[in-house]
Amino acid sequence: MSAPTRLAPARAAAQAARRPWHRQALRWSRARLRRMGWIGLWRRWSLWLLLWVLVAAMLVTLVWLAGRHEAEQVQNQLERDAAGAVVALRAALHGDLGDLQALRPDAPAEAPWQARAEELLRTHRALLRVEWRDRAMAMGGEANTPYAPLPWDRAAREAPHSEVVLACANAQRIRGASYADSYFHAVPDGTGAEVLEACVPLQHGGFVVATYGLHRLLTEVVAPRLQPAQEVSFTEPDGTRLALARATRRGSRMFTARQLLNLPGTTLVLRLDGWHQPPSVFPNVLTALVTVISIALVSVLAVLVRDNRRRLSAEHELGETLAFRKAMENSLLTGLRARDMAGRITYVNPAFCRMVGYEASELLGQRAPPPYWPPEFAQAYAERQRTRMTTGAPALPQGYEVTYARKDGTRFPVAVYEAPLVNAHGVQTGWMGSFLDVSEQRRAEEVSRASQERLQASARLATVGEMASLLSHELNQPLAAIASYTTGSLNLLTDSPDAHEPPEATLAELRGALERIATQAERAGRVIKSVHDFLRRREHVRERVAAADLLDAVLPLVRLQARKLGVEVRVELAEPGACALCDRTMVEQVLLNLARNAMQAMEAVPPAERVLRLGARRVLRPDGPAWLEFSVADRGVGIDAALARRLFTPFFTTRAEGMGLGLSLCRTVVEQHGGALDFAPCPPRGTVFTFTLPMSD
Ligand code: ADP
Repeated sequence: MSAPTRLAPARAAAQAARRPWHRQALRWSRARLRRMGWIGLWRRWSLWLLLWVLVAAMLVTLVWLAGRHEAEQVQNQLERDAAGAVVALRAALHGDLGDLQALRPDAPAEAPWQARAEELLRTHRALLRVEWRDRAMAMGGEANTPYAPLPWDRAAREAPHSEVVLACANAQRIRGASYADSYFHAVPDGTGAEVLEACVPLQHGGFVVATYGLHRLLTEVVAPRLQPAQEVSFTEPDGTRLALARATRRGSRMFTARQLLNLPGTTLVLRLDGWHQPPSVFPNVLTALVTVISIALVSVLAVLVRDNRRRLSAEHELGETLAFRKAMENSLLTGLRARDMAGRITYVNPAFCRMVGYEASELLGQRAPPPYWPPEFAQAYAERQRTRMTTGAPALPQGYEVTYARKDGTRFPVAVYEAPLVNAHGVQTGWMGSFLDVSEQRRAEEVSRASQERLQASARLATVGEMASLLSHELNQPLAAIASYTTGSLNLLTDSPDAHEPPEATLAELRGALERIATQAERAGRVIKSVHDFLRRREHVRERVAAADLLDAVLPLVRLQARKLGVEVRVELAEPGACALCDRTMVEQVLLNLARNAMQAMEAVPPAERVLRLGARRVLRPDGPAWLEFSVADRGVGIDAALARRLFTPFFTTRAEGMGLGLSLCRTVVEQHGGALDFAPCPPRGTVFTFTLPMSD
């Protein structure tokens, strides 16, 4: 139970590490959004909300205004139509008055009054009836319309307070045509009509009374001028309809206009109703246009909102990514440095600044030589940079090592990996380098190299010591025997009475002693030979090794020491695959010894000139087999004649810590292989040591 709980955080951490960095950035950005707080969020969204409300309010107002404008236009048109209807009615009634006046009974006309009245009624369809009254209001004649005539009660019409009498009384008073208030003329079958009485006083006394049907007045005079969706009516002042000419088409919305028709003696109210067709949402083109624009505006707003949201989130992600990258760069232990094509420093990260001890501001914009190049290497580094800039040669993928100087002057080794800096368009804009301070690594390597060297030295000493003790042990007996035989012989000579002519017996003993001395000396010689044989025992371990392999095996150790001494190592292999038949370990030892001697010989020359060249090439001799010649060349102090004489003498050395065995052992090893170790001056300065090994085809 406890194991999974313990493992869970570790697994989560491992998963987090596996996740791509941009996903992590996204997660962090979300977390930060949560932390940002609701206040900022609300402030941003409230602005958007306000914008939405304002736009919606503006659009609703626009649509409403457009609708109202439309309604006003319709209303105005209706008002104009109503006014036009009143004018038409007035003109018609006025025109009728002339015709009615011509209907006087004493008119000089060929037709009698009745015929003229009926003719008039035929042409004036709005009239229901015409009467002629004398001065006393007695009915002189009457005629009814031929179009759906109504029954009339003569007595009622002659009654003293009938509308006819009232109209005529008023006509007499004003000396002109007069109308009475309209009234409903009921008929016994339950129907009837709203009628209007007009009384026209005649010049020589009497009246012509005309009865208008209000409905007919509307249908005959007003209706033909109206539109199909309009209907017209006469109403009471309280709105009660008296007569109505219906619309032939109806809509869903009605507009109303009222106009007064003032007539002498009465006033009629004309009401004109206009029906409007659905849909009322888009009453006209203007409203439709406004609505379409509104919809387009809202859509654009919605798109803008979405776009803004995307932009915000993209900006946020970008910000987070940048912050993440910055954090990554800042926490890097590797130094980063960018240079443009002119070699100017354009970027350094904090790790680089820490490494060299300079502020970024002190480095940015600097050209070669930057302040962290040690003066003794500045020329060589500048040369290398110039070569790379001019040739555009790609940097070494495995990197290279240089020595930099901190601001306080201390030197430290740096591993540099440099690559072209290519922008988004694929164009190289400079160089990007990463830098690793390898001081610690070098120190560790140096410690291991020194201990290895000490180990080798003690191994050599141990071998020498072993040989010495072996020799002393083996030689002890014969030498002791020789010494004692010699002492005995001397004693014999001393004890003899005549030293110049010893007795025969003494001579015989002396001969025996000398024979034994010779035997012991022979034995000592055999001991030495056996030690020699012991040294030659390694002959049988020879193998076939490529020249490149031999050099590769010693190069790491050589480079280690080269770095320490500031020596540049160059390898010149004409034929890497060429193989030698040799004791690999011993030959490696020879190469190491020669290389070490060469580097030590260059300690006194300036660092820029310390070059060690290791090489191997095939040498052909006309009379014998092919040889592989290895060479180790330095630019050191060289070997003068006095030194040359003693060079291969065992235990000869010019160095305080040297043993003086290296070269003599090397020569022994090389000679054991049948080859030769030699040296020669190496112009302009230094020495080249060469040795040959038999080639193996
Ligand atoms: P050690 O290295 O222990 O001194 P060596 O036998 O290898 O012993 O070298 C003997 C001496 O030869 C050195 O002390 C040095 O003075 C000299 N010597 C060897 N190699 C060179 C060289 N390449 N250039 C100059 N002197 C050298």
